Amino acid sequence: MENGAARPVIVAIDGPSGTGKSSTSKAVAAQLGLSYLDTGAQYRAITWWMVNNSIDLDDPTAVAAVAAKPEIVSGTDPAEPTITVDGTDVAAPIRTQEVTSKVSAVSAVPEVRARITELQRSLAASAEKGIVVEGRDIGTTVLPDADLKIFLTASPEARAARRSGELKGVDVHATREALIKRDAADSSRKTSPLAKADDAVEVDTTDLTLQQVIECVVTLVEEKRTAK
Ligand code: C5P
Repeated sequence: MENGAARPVIVAIDGPSGTGKSSTSKAVAAQLGLSYLDTGAQYRAITWWMVNNSIDLDDPTAVAAVAAKPEIVSGTDPAEPTITVDGTDVAAPIRTQEVTSKVSAVSAVPEVRARITELQRSLAASAEKGIVVEGRDIGTTVLPDADLKIFLTASPEARAARRSGELKGVDVHATREALIKRDAADSSRKTSPLAKADDAVEVDTTDLTLQQVIECVVTLVEEKRTAK
């Protein structure tokens, strides 16, 4: 298909950690000439800023009070996604264990979600050719009118194995426990929890290779584009 002639397409990819969301979303966007947004990176970035500024993350009121302060900018080229906070490149520091263990508490604060959701909607609206947005609440809350919604799942064992592979040498058991804890926090929060939208296509990636998942999603996007 000729990408240039296609109308913008909005694709929401949600699911828990370790299901292959980022790798799939980036590859699908690159293959189809679309922009790409990693919304987890935005929540990690605001968490990194809060840690750096010694905000008490156990106090949601303190977190809410400063939620509007950091300027978070996401670059949406799938070949080279970027993330900065007040002009500083934070791509590496947002992946530390410290940020990973604290991000669920920060992302549960409604003022944080409102702030980040606004950024996400404005990036999606300005993507000329369309965008693949990955996260937890994209299909349910951020972009409920997305052309295609995918919900990726995988067994906890498969997810832990993939994550510890990515983090090289980290204990699989500890990773599994940490993932389960983070998913439970993300799924049980009051404001836009991790959830599958009613009209999302669920893809269980447990026994699929990354290439198979990418092909499956690309096919679903192409079908939607043809039907538009
Ligand atoms: O995707 P990633 O693991 O980087 O996400 C980090 C955290 O950001 C999640 O555990 C969750 O707390 C939060 N998040 C969210 N809503 C999104 C994306 C991520 O609350 N749309």
